Amino acid sequence: MRKIQMVDLKGQYDQIKETVNASIQEVLDNTAYINGPQVHKFQKDLEQYLGVKHVIPCANGTDALQIAMMGLGLQPGDEVITADFTFAATVEVIALLQLTPVLVDVDADTFNISVDAIKKAITPKTKAIVPVHLFGQVANMEEILAVAKEHNLYVIEDNAQAIGADYTFANGTKKKAGVMGHVASTSFFPSKNLGAYGDGGAIFTNDDDLAHALRGIVNHGMYVRYHHDVVGVNSRLDSLQAAVLNAKLPLLDTYNAARLATANKYSAALANHAKVVTPVVTGTTDSHVFHQYTLRILDADRDALMQHLLDKGIPCAIYYPIPLHSQKAYADARYNEEDFPITNQLVKEVISLPMHTELDDEQIDFITGSILEFLNK
Ligand SMILES: *Cc1c(COP(=O)(O)O)cnc(C)c1O
Repeated sequence: MRKIQMVDLKGQYDQIKETVNASIQEVLDNTAYINGPQVHKFQKDLEQYLGVKHVIPCANGTDALQIAMMGLGLQPGDEVITADFTFAATVEVIALLQLTPVLVDVDADTFNISVDAIKKAITPKTKAIVPVHLFGQVANMEEILAVAKEHNLYVIEDNAQAIGADYTFANGTKKKAGVMGHVASTSFFPSKNLGAYGDGGAIFTNDDDLAHALRGIVNHGMYVRYHHDVVGVNSRLDSLQAAVLNAKLPLLDTYNAARLATANKYSAALANHAKVVTPVVTGTTDSHVFHQYTLRILDADRDALMQHLLDKGIPCAIYYPIPLHSQKAYADARYNEEDFPITNQLVKEVISLPMHTELDDEQIDFITGSILEFLNK
């Protein structure tokens, strides 16, 4: 059996080596390392793939979130509601901009932000909601958009983990993750579903005025060369990363299908065990692109299971081990433990299995067999 990796970047590269190398070679030959034609091509192709009017490439997914919030003109003291159970980048940029993060609980079945919790957290100071499409599953956008509309709030989708996922509204309309809110961010960190070979990110919006504002903000607040109208940042997707992404974007649907197939095999082997909750897909199967495959372990020692898997050479990880409201940087007297029952429970139960595009049946069987062996002991 091949060695099992949490993310197999080498195995994937070996399959696409020629296209990637040729694409990188073009940049080396034209030396347009910054804002080269590869960046422009990637922007256009991604706009078309997503069905969105504007993609603004930038340096990483954290910058993308920050720039989206700057573009919306959020002001210090504005409250921004986001999920307690997510990667810290989301709350970090809210705090950096001196906005007030309002962390709320998630739903146990999807791990995504709870609409009831959002409703309870809204105050006259609330300006935006940031749903994170966690682990690759689109949050409950139908209801989130309705709540936002009712209270006149911006919706900023953190789409770092769900690029390529589709969301089907009750009326049958289908939209890609990241094109439903006012603005969205994504990350091309190497292990993401569409990963570069370094850092990268992008912002999406259908709003022409916001897109114009964002294009200036990523470029030092310049709309006309050497005229700085607003305080901006320097955040660019470099041409070498765009070259890698140009080679991989045409494969994104194939890659996401491979992740779904692996997820289905994991779930088929584990679904009927009383001590395991396999991932719940709430929408159509294309609403989840399995950035992570995350189990909940009930009535068993999750940490001992993790050690058992590591001892057998099976990498696995806890995403995320500590609720954001309990992190030193984001703790706040405003928070009550009773408001986070689900996140507090999930951090003790979750375990994420290897998930990438190169897992074979022998590896999958070994992983699920090793989990059952531990649970049936
Ligand atoms: C990866 C990630 C980010 C940040 O992306 P970077 O490119 O690493 O800055 C933000 N939010 C979520 C949910 C992520 O998973």
